[in-house]
Amino acid sequence: METVKLAASAAEVGGIPVARLLPRGRCRSIGAWCFLDHAGPARFAAGSAGLQIGPHPHTNLQTFTWMLAGELLHCDSLGHRQTIRPGQLNLMTAGTGPTRGIAHTEQTPPGSAELHAVQLWIALPQHLDIEPAFDHYPELPAWQEAGADFVLLNGSLHGCTAPTRCHSPLLGADVRTAAAQVLEFPAEAGWEYGVLVLAGSVAAADGTRAAADELLLPAHGQGRLVLHAEAGSHFLLLGGEPLPHPIRLWWNFVADGREALQQAVRDWNGGSPRFGAAGGWYDPVLKPLPAPETPFDLR
Ligand code: MN
Repeated sequence: METVKLAASAAEVGGIPVARLLPRGRCRSIGAWCFLDHAGPARFAAGSAGLQIGPHPHTNLQTFTWMLAGELLHCDSLGHRQTIRPGQLNLMTAGTGPTRGIAHTEQTPPGSAELHAVQLWIALPQHLDIEPAFDHYPELPAWQEAGADFVLLNGSLHGCTAPTRCHSPLLGADVRTAAAQVLEFPAEAGWEYGVLVLAGSVAAADGTRAAADELLLPAHGQGRLVLHAEAGSHFLLLGGEPLPHPIRLWWNFVADGREALQQAVRDWNGGSPRFGAAGGWYDPVLKPLPAPETPFDLR
């Protein structure tokens, strides 16, 4: 297996530019991680509305929001209202199957000066019966080792296990290095791995080096993965076991095929109770986002 490096595509979410790293080219997923947006670091001018994402649905996935700077208010159709601050994780589970889903809004509070966050989606295993849920993790396991600062976002690493709700084998770790470091990680057989560089640069064992807003898919073998991080680097190490079925994405929906995506579009646009409470849980200034029709050739 060769190391692969991918550059971000430029996208826009709720009025601010984001760097999108997944899906990207031939790389559709890293284990169940199937979508990856890096938002900011952005500064808002005085009087700016900041980030305002109106009510929109999700299916068959978890939204995984890791906050680096600024604040976001999350409101969802299960009735949760939660402000997320730096060092905290919000995890919203849409549930699985044709009758389950969830809807939410995401907003920077009035007067917000900045935003820096990563939002990932985790595809849910379609053969499991999973209920919608929302979890807020105000504190996650953190430690220093081999000259690096680690925060464990989910899964297990270096003998530590995160409390984060997972439905398939996954790893997410936030890593910062003050000085240049060579870091070695255990690599599980059959897993896929990716490194999202947020600042500085990180190279795989073969020397392929990724800079900020690049995704490195490092070659790994013999049960280990070696990364060379330059001084002042900050990155997310992501890993996971591939799901036993295809992961298809359309708009804010995940499913294992086109029919289920089309059904989700019809359900949301038709006001189906599948997505929870109809209004009332969000700021009425925000307008629900309509789902675009699935293209004819969606695969
Ligand atoms: Mn969302």
